[in-house]
Order: sequence, then structure tokens, then C-alpha cells
Amino acid sequence: MKKDIASMTLGELSQEIAALGLPKFRSGQIYNWLHVKGVAAFGDMTNISNDLKRILNDNFVIFPCSIEKKLISEYDNTVKYLFRLHDGEYIESVVMDYKYGHTICISTQVGCKMGCIFCASTLGGFVRNLAPSEMLAQIYSAQNDLGIKIARVVLMGMGEPLDNYDNVMRFLELVSCENGVNIGMRKISLSTSGIVPRIYDLLEKHLQLTLSVSLHAPNDEIRSRIMPVNSKWGTDELLRACRIYADKTSRRISFEYAMLDGVNDSDACAAELARKLKGMLCHVNLIPANEVPERGHRRSNGERMASFAEILESNGITVTVRRSLGSDINASCGQLRRSVQKSL
Ligand code: SAH
Repeated sequence: MKKDIASMTLGELSQEIAALGLPKFRSGQIYNWLHVKGVAAFGDMTNISNDLKRILNDNFVIFPCSIEKKLISEYDNTVKYLFRLHDGEYIESVVMDYKYGHTICISTQVGCKMGCIFCASTLGGFVRNLAPSEMLAQIYSAQNDLGIKIARVVLMGMGEPLDNYDNVMRFLELVSCENGVNIGMRKISLSTSGIVPRIYDLLEKHLQLTLSVSLHAPNDEIRSRIMPVNSKWGTDELLRACRIYADKTSRRISFEYAMLDGVNDSDACAAELARKLKGMLCHVNLIPANEVPERGHRRSNGERMASFAEILESNGITVTVRRSLGSDINASCGQLRRSVQKSL
């Protein structure tokens, strides 16, 4: 079986190149083509001889991540990609054009196991984990297509990053490598639905990334109804892990809170949330829930969101009400893949 060359660290690639009896400097060249230029084929490595290209082709594979569909928002330049992978599966990525540069939201799995009731990614069930190279390829394909350099990465697309832990950790090592695309840990956010043991594992690594936690409810009664993961690790257990994480890493946790009309958006919910987050190094991101037709929920109105935010703020919790970008192009998780699945 051919080896997945773009999932290798520079050290590993050097060993492979040496084992094939090739000169050492080749590994740096190849790594540069893969991770700085983001080429999708050995044939595009122009300073490499045909003989070497053949050897590479015989031993290694560059997994494709080709653009199947591309949607551009008329409102805010948000670009949404549907990428096709080597086995015919589809994943989504979104590029957002912020004042401080381009941010890409990437997928970490094809489908998802978590089953959150408001989310489109989980509708078709779980298919497979993405390889580290397939996470990187989303960045490279978008950069090459748009002619830009991505400044920030959020692991908030399809899938649960902490359910694909080893591949995500390797992705983080590769994406922040100085010889590669070199996006520093402080420019990366990882979002989890709350796999508590993996939060403790992540803590041990003391990474400088931002941990986002999809909380969406202040208590088990509501959270278990909308996020099945909560029946495994309850709200208090999750918040305890978050508190320890923030204390030990001195990194502010970002709590995601999608406002669902009549479900989790009451003033009482806000007060309970404020009480539970008191004193924690954290921030709450209120998001107007994206309405997914199959899901049937409604987003909270602006007035409700403002009242909720006000209660948090008056209790000393910092809050942002997130702008919803790309609403004309189904920019939220899983919606585009879903529409393609339905039309196939
Ligand atoms: N599995 C990870 C990351 C992917 S989801 C996680 O759960 O964090 C990225 C974010 O989008 C999560 O906060 C998720 O809860 C949120 N999300 C999913 N569907 C949504 C919807 N319909 N409206 C608003 N946010 C949604």
C-alpha cells in the first residue's frame, strides 16, 4: 500500500527518503512542495526529476481534496467548499474574510457520531475519520484556489475533533511546523462537543490553541435533550474539566452557545449559565442557531439574544454575539454535503 506522504512529519519523510537511497536534501524540497506550495500531484514538483517523480509515485500517495462545488456569499465574501476525497466522500470547509485575515473552518471527519439535534453534519451518520493530510489539504486547496494565505484555522467543520484525536494532534503538529504552512497554535481553535477524557489529554499537551466548547445549555436537563454526548459526560463534569483546563493552561476557554428558540434561550438559562461559569477564565459566544430544515428548530430572535447577553454581562461574563456569515450559502456545518447527498 502506498504511504500517505502529506501526513508525515519532516523527520519521518527524511527517514523514508533515506530508506529509498535518495539524497537527504530531497526531503526538504518535497516537504516544501507538499506543505508550502500545497501541490496535489508529484507531477507538479517542477525541480524534481522524472525518475524521482516515478519513485515517489510508486511509494507514496497525495490524497486529493478536489473542489466539487464552491459557493461565494454575496453579502460578505464567505466561500464555502464541498471537497471530494479519494474514496468519493465529501467534506465541507468555509473560508471567512475577516479584517485581520482569512480564517478557514475545516472538517475533521466525514459525518459525525455526536448526534446533536440541531446540527446537519450528523444527519447522515458517521462515515470515517479524516487523515491529517486531508485536514491540511482543505487549507491548501482553498489557498491555491483563492490565491491567499490562510491566517487562522478553526476545527469547527464537520466531525468531532476529539473523536479523531491522534490524527488531529498530528494535524496540529504539521500545520504549525515552521517548514510547512506554519500557522501558529495561537491562530488555531479546536471545538469540541465535550469529550471530557480527551480534554484532559489535551491539557497535558499544554498547547497554545484556543479550546472552544460547544456548551449550548446550562444544565443536564436541557443539554441531554439536544446533545446526546451529555448523557456520557454531564454538564458539571464538563465544566469542571474546562475550569481545570483554563487554570492549568491560562488559556481562555470559548463557550459556544447556539440560541434555539424556546429551548435554551430563557433569562433563567442565562442566569444559571452565569452562575456556573463564575470565576472561570472564559468567554461566551452566542450564535443565532442556523435553521436546518430537517431539524425543525428555530433561532432565537435578536431581542432574546440581547437579553441573554445582558444577563451574562451583568454577572461579569464576557460575551460576543457572533455575526452569522454566509447565511445565503448554507455556510453552517454539514448543510452543503447534505444537499449533495440528497441529490445523488
Ligand atoms: N463537533 C465539534 C465541532 C464541529 S461543530 C463541536 O461540537 O464543537 C461546530 C460548532 O457549530 C459547534 O459549536 C456546533 O454545536 C455548532 N453548530 C452545529 N449546528 C449548528 C446550528 N444549526 N446552528 C448553530 N450552531 C451549530
